[in-house]
Amino acid sequence: MTTDSTPKVTPLIAGNWKMNGTSAALGEVRRLAELLAAGERPRCTIAICPPATLLAPLNAIAAPSGIVTGGQDCHPAAGGAHTGDISAAMLADAGAQFVIVGHSERRTNHGETDELVRAKAVAALAAGLVPIICVGELEAERRAGRAEDIVAGQLASSVPDDLGQQGVVIAYEPVWAIGTGLTPTTEDIAQMHGTIRKLFAGRFGPAGASTRILYGGSMKPSNARDILRIENVDGGLIGGASLLANDFHSIISAV
Ligand code: PEP
Repeated sequence: MTTDSTPKVTPLIAGNWKMNGTSAALGEVRRLAELLAAGERPRCTIAICPPATLLAPLNAIAAPSGIVTGGQDCHPAAGGAHTGDISAAMLADAGAQFVIVGHSERRTNHGETDELVRAKAVAALAAGLVPIICVGELEAERRAGRAEDIVAGQLASSVPDDLGQQGVVIAYEPVWAIGTGLTPTTEDIAQMHGTIRKLFAGRFGPAGASTRILYGGSMKPSNARDILRIENVDGGLIGGASLLANDFHSIISAV
C-alpha cells in the first residue's frame, strides 16, 4: 500500500450507499458490527455514507463498533432558501465525519462543475467534515490517453487551496469503472495514484503527501486485496459492494 518513501496513513474503507436503503437496511449495519466484533481489529477507518435520512440512526448502531459515517453531498452554502438541499453543518449535526463531494453521478446528473465541487469542499471543511473529493476520467478520455490530464485538471480546480485542520480525502474513480464491473489494470491504478500523490505533495507539501487517495470503481471482495496492495492506494470508495455486510466486511478484511 505504501513504500518507505511514502508516508504511512491509516487506510479508509468508505461505503457509498447512493440512493439505496430505508430503515430496513440498518440490519446490514448490525450484521457488519457483529462480523467486526467476531474478527480481528480492522486495520483501517471504516465509514458508511448512507442516504441522509439514515445518518442519525445508522450512527447510533455503528458508533460502538468504531464505524463512522458520511454524507453523500452537501450544499456550498451554510443555510438558506435551497429547497431539497442539505448543508455540511446539518450532516455534521446528524453525526457525519465525512462527506462525498463531486461524485461522478452528481457531476453527470446534476451538471456539477469543478468550481462547485470546490465550494462544497470548502463548506465541508468549515463545518468540520472531511470532504471525500471524487475525480476520474471518462472511458473516451482514457482511450484518448488523456486520463492523467483530466484528473490533474479536476484536482487543480476541485480541491481547495487550504486543506484545513482535518484535511481532505481524494477518491480516484474512473467513471467507466463505477457500477460496471470493469476496473483499470493494476499498472493504470498505480500510475494514476502516483501522479495524484506527486501533485498533492507538490501543491501542499507534507499535508499533501499524507493525503489519503482512495480507489473507487467496482471494488469487490474478489479484487479488493489486489487493488489495496497497489502503491499509493490508501483505501477504497465502494458502492454496490458496501450494501451487503458480508461483502463490505470482506473488503475491510482485505486491508
Ligand atoms: C461509487 O459509487 O463510488 C462506486 C465506486 O460504485 P461501485 O463500487 O458500485 O462501482
